Amino acid sequence: MSNAKLQPVLDRIDADFDNSLERLFTLLRIKSISADPAFAKDCRAAADHLAKDIATLGFKTEVRPTAGHPAVVGKLNGSTDGRPHVLFYGHYDVQPVDPLNLWHRPPFEPVVTDHADGRKIIVARGAEDDKGQLMTFVEACRAWKNVTGSLPVDITIVIEGEEEIGSKNFVPFLEANKAELKADFALVCDTGMWDPNTPAITTSLRGLVYDEVKIKAANRDLHSGVFGGGAQNPIRVLTRILGGLHDDNGHITIPGFYDGVKDLPPDILAQWKQLNLTPESFLKPIGLSVPAGEKDRLLIEQVSSR
Ligand SMILES: [Zn+2]
Repeated sequence: MSNAKLQPVLDRIDADFDNSLERLFTLLRIKSISADPAFAKDCRAAADHLAKDIATLGFKTEVRPTAGHPAVVGKLNGSTDGRPHVLFYGHYDVQPVDPLNLWHRPPFEPVVTDHADGRKIIVARGAEDDKGQLMTFVEACRAWKNVTGSLPVDITIVIEGEEEIGSKNFVPFLEANKAELKADFALVCDTGMWDPNTPAITTSLRGLVYDEVKIKAANRDLHSGVFGGGAQNPIRVLTRILGGLHDDNGHITIPGFYDGVKDLPPDILAQWKQLNLTPESFLKPIGLSVPAGEKDRLLIEQVSSR
């Protein structure tokens, strides 16, 4: 992207900043708490609001039903064939806000305020997950469109409403609409910056696996004074299994766990080293000092790539 083309767009973003902020605040005021059925109407309102706003940028938008809270789909196709097609993902739902008495201010009344470290920050539920990020993308599109008259790539925007409750109904939605949502690139904005001065391009995200394990031993409740030591105790079996999940070097021992986990390319590893994530900076604030992961790996590898 040539600078000459980009600069007017950046200038436009600066000039329109207060309006952008107000548009974000309008979204932040909607109580789209997906976990609580009492707020289902608010989730719907957030979806409707976004569909309407994104439509003003020339997108064909729809609020699409799922088995749970609806998803917003917006599509913008240029007249010329063969342009790159970007799929953009975000979520409009937010985490519950209780206990309310721990908030210094009402969670759905956004404000810009001063942080202890001198930065100005936006305080509201969802401001940094994920309404702020998603509106950053929408506002970037808006500025580009306003300056140049059109957007440079084909874009499909998908905004779901159940990210904070596990996306149970969103995965079937994606499956059902696989062909329609096909794109060359996927941009997921449910991520953050490294720190206030270091932007980040997040190229992968960690997943989560869990399982329920039941261990049964004797066929009845036992008296320790009679059977202790002789009868197998399920707690003992369970702690042996849990204790065996890591070896003494912090390496995970589950067979196949590291299959497909690639070592970082040298240039990326060099960049990560420069970020200087140390036990002092990362663990000390939470009252710890010794990293728990693989001893032969950097702390940042332990939390980001392993
Ligand atoms: Zn999120």
